[in-house]
Amino acid sequence: MIDHYPVPGFGTLKSEILDKGLCTGCSICTIMCRFENLVFEDLPVMKQECSSCQLCNIVCPRAGEISQKLQKDWEILDRHAIIRSARSTDEGILKVCQDGGVTTSLLWYALSRGLIDGAVVSGVKDLKPVPIIASTYQELVSSAGVRYSPSPTYQALLSHSRNGNVKGREARLGLVGTPCQILALRNMQVPDIEGAVLEPSDLIKFNIGLFCMEQFDSSFLEYLKTKIDMQNAKKFKMTGNGLNITFADGSKILVENAEIRNFVRSNCRVCVDFTSKYADISVGSAGSPTGWTTVIIRSDAGRAIYSGALRCGHIIENQKSPNHMTIERLSKKKIGRDRI
Ligand SMILES: Cc1cc2nc3c(=O)[nH]c(=O)nc-3n(C[C@H](O)[C@H](O)[C@H](O)COP(=O)(O)OP(=O)(O)OC[C@H]3O[C@@H](n4cnc5c(N)ncnc54)[C@H](O)[C@@H]3O)c2cc1C
Ligand code: SF4
Ligand code: SF4
Ligand code: SF4
Repeated sequence: MIDHYPVPGFGTLKSEILDKGLCTGCSICTIMCRFENLVFEDLPVMKQECSSCQLCNIVCPRAGEISQKLQKDWEILDRHAIIRSARSTDEGILKVCQDGGVTTSLLWYALSRGLIDGAVVSGVKDLKPVPIIASTYQELVSSAGVRYSPSPTYQALLSHSRNGNVKGREARLGLVGTPCQILALRNMQVPDIEGAVLEPSDLIKFNIGLFCMEQFDSSFLEYLKTKIDMQNAKKFKMTGNGLNITFADGSKILVENAEIRNFVRSNCRVCVDFTSKYADISVGSAGSPTGWTTVIIRSDAGRAIYSGALRCGHIIENQKSPNHMTIERLSKKKIGRDRI
């Protein structure tokens, strides 16, 4: 491992993001490093010399200003966004999903209709998120639900980056991510003067952004293991009071907010985007009844996927609209919260 870096380049990423505890763990910088010098090991780690190409700083969702074009375009789309409560019609998805299973159903609709070849999602191993490209129903279903620790989502795209194989470069993909991960993708998709975007973001045909208030350090899982029978923990759900854990036998416990506060990641304390405002489609539980997903459809790409899935019966809509006030209140809470 190399510990001296020329500035700018990895030196800037290290001093401005990593050393300040702002890294979200998205891992997008590591797939941008053309020389494969930067690898992801819980955080980006420099293995060789940095050529100061700056690509890692350009795509990092915590470095620099958000592109003005991106902000302007999405402000306009936001004005025309449609908001719905919806639910999957697929029993297999409903059994394992977090809320209404809309996320997994939209991906399954796109995959089964041949609109995409795969979906970048966060699978799970030993309760930790493991990024994969799901290309079957079974792979999608096994990655449904929520992990409240960072998923290095973009690692799934390593073999599709410039150094990857030709087939990888031809793939059409969907992607699910937290707001910081969606911003990372949009940073890659800001067109240059010739209209080109950074590879491999051109492969992502639509994305689904999750609502997100915060995530926890991996030490939280270790802490829970000392208190709870985590082998039998089946579902985790954050609520206003804390983390609800449901076990295989149907019993539940609540880990209260006061107990979990210290495990909130430092990068999440500076984050102000609750609803994934740069996503094609945003999804969350806030605003909808239990068992339903709140869905915000923002872009043409999002509209095509959502209306197709609705038309083909993959999802159904609740007659009642989501509660806008709840979503607004939580968005404001995130912007205004204590940043320590
Ligand atoms: C860390 C985190 C915090 C959240 N906080 C809130 C909140 O405060 N308020 C709220 O209303 N909603 C929040 N959500 C979103 C909510 O929990 C559901 O994911 C959303 O409602 C979609 O439900 P669904 O049943 O349609 O999803 P499902 O069909 O179950 O699909 C869930 C998708 O999320 C992906 N995923 C799971 N964990 C991660 C992860 N760590 N990183 C990236 N992708 C992941 C899975 O791969 C899957 O594709 C949060 C989600 C996450 C991951
Ligand atoms: S992407 Fe460029 S600036 Fe960043 S570490 Fe790699 S070579 Fe250095
Ligand atoms: S936030 Fe993402 S892009 Fe930025 S340093 Fe961390 S892993 Fe790299
Ligand atoms: S709170 Fe912000 S930084 Fe933290 S995981 Fe969610 S979107 Fe990313």
